[in-house]
Amino acid sequence: MRKTIIVSNRLPVKISETNGEYTLQPSEGGLATGLGSIYREGNNIWIGWPGQEITDQKDQDKVTKQLRKINLMPVYLTQDEINNFYEGFSNETLWPVFHYMAVYAHYEQSYWDAYYQVNKKFRDIIMKVAEPGDTIWIHDYQLLLLPGMIRAEMPEISIGFFQHIPFPSFELFRLIPWRAEILEGMLGADLMGFHTFDDTRHFLNAASRILPVNTSANVVSYNDRAIVVETFPMGIDYNKYAEMGKDPEVLQQVQNLRENFGNDRLVLSIDRLDYSKGILQRLQAFELLLQLHPEYIGKVVLYMIVVPSRDQVPQYKELRDEIDKQVGNINARFRTLAWHPIQYFYRSFPFETLSALYNFADICLVTPMRDGMNLVSKEYVASRSNNDGVLILSEMAGASKELIDAIIVNPNNIGAITRAIVDALNMPLPEQQRRMKQMRSVVSKFNINHWVKLFMTRLQEVNEMQKNMLARRVNQETAVLIRQQYFNSKKRIIFLDYDGTLVGFQPNIDQASPDPDLYQLLRELASIPGNDLVMISGRNHETLGEWFGHLDLDLIAEHGAWQKTKSGEWYQLPGLTDKWKKELLPIMELATDRTPGSFIEEKSYSLVWHYRKVESGLGELRANELMNTLRYYTVEKGLQVLPGDKVIEVKNVEINKGKAALSWLNHKKYDFIMAMGDDVTDEDIFKALPHKAITIKVGSQVSAAQYYLRSYHEVRHLLRTLRNRE
Ligand code: UDP
Repeated sequence: MRKTIIVSNRLPVKISETNGEYTLQPSEGGLATGLGSIYREGNNIWIGWPGQEITDQKDQDKVTKQLRKINLMPVYLTQDEINNFYEGFSNETLWPVFHYMAVYAHYEQSYWDAYYQVNKKFRDIIMKVAEPGDTIWIHDYQLLLLPGMIRAEMPEISIGFFQHIPFPSFELFRLIPWRAEILEGMLGADLMGFHTFDDTRHFLNAASRILPVNTSANVVSYNDRAIVVETFPMGIDYNKYAEMGKDPEVLQQVQNLRENFGNDRLVLSIDRLDYSKGILQRLQAFELLLQLHPEYIGKVVLYMIVVPSRDQVPQYKELRDEIDKQVGNINARFRTLAWHPIQYFYRSFPFETLSALYNFADICLVTPMRDGMNLVSKEYVASRSNNDGVLILSEMAGASKELIDAIIVNPNNIGAITRAIVDALNMPLPEQQRRMKQMRSVVSKFNINHWVKLFMTRLQEVNEMQKNMLARRVNQETAVLIRQQYFNSKKRIIFLDYDGTLVGFQPNIDQASPDPDLYQLLRELASIPGNDLVMISGRNHETLGEWFGHLDLDLIAEHGAWQKTKSGEWYQLPGLTDKWKKELLPIMELATDRTPGSFIEEKSYSLVWHYRKVESGLGELRANELMNTLRYYTVEKGLQVLPGDKVIEVKNVEINKGKAALSWLNHKKYDFIMAMGDDVTDEDIFKALPHKAITIKVGSQVSAAQYYLRSYHEVRHLLRTLRNRE
């Protein structure tokens, strides 16, 4: 039976040991709950580190057995691996860069080596259980290389990947010395998910600028696979938080809080100790509040929980010391005999206490400098069954994209946070309720189960889409069929595009001249009785004539504007005009003046703006601008604007490779028709030819062609097999 394998750095379990006996306690995190519906079913499984160093083989066996009973499978890590892979590369290299704190990043070869090795260790364990047909869902930044490593072993298996932390802008990501390897690893997945649209955009941008990949919209074409990259904002277990407010233990704790704080207004702040959370700035904002608004002294309390985390790492220890210091200063400065401005706890609390605080606090203050999603903000919203309370949320948290009815602040703007607290303290109840209701409906609908379902369904759809594309690749069987059809026919015509189809893509257009091998191949094919070879290209007729005029080929240049039969002379398509060029040339020249590396190619009936030598990113940007301007000017002139491979071409609508190809078919009756091309303009041929024609797209994009081949090498190979029967 097909199964689903979940993989994350940590297993959803806590292990404790007393006198050689191990007890397992399932963890209650949101992700564990959401994925519970998957991994607990049938022979599904969750693979990860159990969170405890167990060195003794016998102990490992014992724990493994216990874990297997609840569908978990451990990857044991040594202390060295924990130091270098987890604390090292994951938390001291990736974490700071991905959270825009690149100054904190360490780029250590030994960290990278360990990261690579541990990803391999995960791969080896997955390989023991994975079977064809299974689905693997990998989670988070500790395992970025894993999708690629599994793909190399099992090319057909379905792999999803979700990143729970932000993906930074290209300018930051490029700092990492192993950036290409990381992207290659991630691109082993079929579906890749991020919390926000910005993360998705940043990933697509990094991939297209660092690797030789094609991206169109949200699809990356890499190693002949289409990888879909999408936004899936993660939700929480809404019902659990909404209902917890009725729990007797929680009600009791709320009562205790009420007795303790009386009429004081409570501002709640909950984070893990981390420099990405903006804790110091939040303290400054609270201090400013008391300074600017002494009327709140004795009336407002900041209840601040910081959950211990990574406090062996120097930056974290420093942060902790600094928080201690600031809290001490503020308390010393403003406290009265009966009131402390900040109640600060450096520890974690049981779920009931958190729920009581969420229920009791008037304001929840969440101001991270950068946060993938931020669950605390959603948990506060879900807990507010009365629809009152105010959420103040940083615009740098992923959650701010969904919780737009919060008071949104820039966490670096201390004054703005202070003003937000004042606004929140004075917000009328109906306004609180209006906002909270909206946010609650979002958190309720996009809950964790919805998220899991959405991701898994999309992964299936992506696999379907890939299969449809795969079905069209020319494989051994289809190659045999094509050969059979070819050799069983008497009158054959083959349309061949030139650039990208018969030769590779060159940065310099004049460098792509034909090589002796190609000449030889074309000569041989053209000399076979019954064969008509037609070179059908966008190039100008002079070049095409110079290169191929002496061969036994028909030539179609400039997408059909110029045509020539084997022994005949060049002639033009009648009725074409080039008067429009005068008007459009200055527009293209303006773009060229503003864009170093770009140039204009003028053909008889078309103008082409090339940007293949322009700094990547800038070229695409200018191309978009130019397309928009050109469309405006061409709309009523019978012209079309075509985006191609690093080119934009403007030409008369009558000029069309499809129409040109059809006119060839009118001359003679053929019993074998084949066309090969790589460009958008070749799509016109694929669409125009009769159904029985064999159409082959070069490259792996979606196409109107029946089949596709990967590169011009494969095109030449196929053509070679048509030279003789054996
Ligand atoms: N949390 C907890 N114990 C505590 C305080 C917080 O388990 O004493 C939980 C909190 O309920 C939330 C999570 O820790 O689910 C923090 O998630 P968030 O996305 O806000 O930040 P992260 O720590 O993942 O960066």
